[in-house]
Amino acid sequence: AAKEGGKAAWTRFEPRMRQDVVNHARLGSELHNAIIRHELFLLYQPVFDIVTGRLHGAEALVRWKHPTRGFVSPGDFIPVAERSGLIVPLGSWVLREACEQLARWHRDHGDGAIKAINVNVAVRQLRESGFVDEVAAVLSETGLMPQNLVLEVTESSVADGRQVRETLHALHEMGVRLALDDFGTGSSSLSLLRAFPVDVLKLDKSFVDGITEGADRGRLAVAAAVAQLAEYLQLSAVAEGIESESQLIRLREMGYRLGQGFFMSKPLPAEEAGALMATPAPVVA
Ligand code: C2E
Ligand code: MG
Ligand code: MG
Ligand code: MG
Repeated sequence: AAKEGGKAAWTRFEPRMRQDVVNHARLGSELHNAIIRHELFLLYQPVFDIVTGRLHGAEALVRWKHPTRGFVSPGDFIPVAERSGLIVPLGSWVLREACEQLARWHRDHGDGAIKAINVNVAVRQLRESGFVDEVAAVLSETGLMPQNLVLEVTESSVADGRQVRETLHALHEMGVRLALDDFGTGSSSLSLLRAFPVDVLKLDKSFVDGITEGADRGRLAVAAAVAQLAEYLQLSAVAEGIESESQLIRLREMGYRLGQGFFMSKPLPAEEAGALMATPAPVVA
């Protein structure tokens, strides 16, 4: 523990650190084969209209079932993939798979199906010169309209530079919608919101966590401010990481129309998400 402090703690810690570096290198090379070996798959976390309780959309979230390690969390392998550049082929696979799944839902459930699918996109993908063409190709091959796709990007991606800026404008021009993920945690300026073609703000879970029973106004401030900002800018706002009914009620009072979180649903396999679309009744009251 830290209180044992000093040199002794460090020498005991060091072998594990070296192990982590080795693991990262190995993880990277194993990830390389993961796509080919079909070890990756997607779960879909439903997004609800928290006023009517109806299913609104879903976010595709990648999972890796490693043959010996078991499930590896995206929190562990996405950063590795970003550093090595493997996020580019991995992200391409996710985009195509998610669009194919939405097309299947449209076929199987018609009007009951969600209209759009959310896909997370890393800045490395946006820096690729062919990204806009790739999105256009996937949409046309799966028979989707650009409005059926919401790409989730972070504030730091938006602030990355000219290439990324132009890519985002081109995607928006095409009709693809853009969501700012983990909103409120980045260090970018609010003026970016006016300069960029953003359609959706996703309030980061950390601000939803603060909405507990009896929380003071300070802890609610960011969540409330983001709802108002979205209203003024005529963007839609999604609260993510809702874990309790009291959070849901407070967020609804603040003006959030859309929400995502374990209280309503964890990320689901495609079949289970599809089953929600086959049920016309509201899922959350
Ligand atoms: P994110 O895009 O902000 O996704 C939301 C994360 O919060 C997901 O974790 C989801 O399972 C989790 N979550 C949702 N509701 C709750 C809740 O009520 N409580 C708690 N404790 N967690 C909740 P996940 O799937 O582990 O993904 C973590 C991050 O990994 C994502 O954050 C995203 O940044 C990244 N990621 C996942 N899939 C992809 C992908 O296909 N491409 C890229 N580039 N990044 C991805
Ligand atoms: Mg996301
Ligand atoms: Mg998020
Ligand atoms: Mg997040």
